Amino acid sequence: MIQLSGVEKVYNPRKPTEVYALRDVNLEISSGDFVAITGPSGSGKSTLLHILAGLDTATSGKYFFRGRDVSAMSDGEKCQLRNKKIAIILQSFGLIGTESALNNVVLPHIIGGTYNRKIDQKARQVLEQVGLGSAIKKPVNQLSGGQRQRVAIARALTMNVEVLLADEPTGALDQQNAESLVRLLTELNQNGLTVVIVTHNMAIAEKCPIAYALNDGRLSRTR
Ligand code: ADP
Ligand code: MG
Repeated sequence: MIQLSGVEKVYNPRKPTEVYALRDVNLEISSGDFVAITGPSGSGKSTLLHILAGLDTATSGKYFFRGRDVSAMSDGEKCQLRNKKIAIILQSFGLIGTESALNNVVLPHIIGGTYNRKIDQKARQVLEQVGLGSAIKKPVNQLSGGQRQRVAIARALTMNVEVLLADEPTGALDQQNAESLVRLLTELNQNGLTVVIVTHNMAIAEKCPIAYALNDGRLSRTR
């Protein structure tokens, strides 16, 4: 499903502030995989997820999604990829605090002009599924970190994507909430969603069938 070969990412090339964030990254992810990526702060984890999501492009190397060359896609095509195939949950969630959980979930459809009754029903059903049934109408800034994380996941699921990328989804959660989030992701994975999570939490990485480590921009498989 996903294939990266020889991917490099250089920020500020040939300037004094040049940073090699990714070096010769090779990665294959099959449909239905549950993958953890670990690594110290600054090792390139977010950069890698942003490239997988089509939010950023590699400086060199190739990225294929279902055989299509993402590096050659136009901005519009990459936007389609993000809307239809791959969802990314950013470290900062990207939610609007003053709007309800439900409104945050349906917002991409309102913006994209695809909002209708069916989407509203689906959003409510997905919010129930992630355990937010009682918080549907609450403004997001009145929800806990764990609940906000679930709103972000519900929004991704309402888009019917094939792949969910999550950047340190348990970073702001206590152990109990972190474990319950991982149970939810595992359940979604068992229902066919491909899941890639970046995490500092080794206990969580150990629960994932496939694991990689990033060190100074170099990716290696650890399980
Ligand atoms: P991680 O998510 O593992 O903490 P990042 O992918 O955010 O790592 O960053 C990898 C390296 O790239 C770091 O040295 C970081 O400072 C640098 N970096 C990330 N984003 C940018 C940017 N937009 N401009 C310049 N350097 C960046
Ligand atoms: Mg990061």
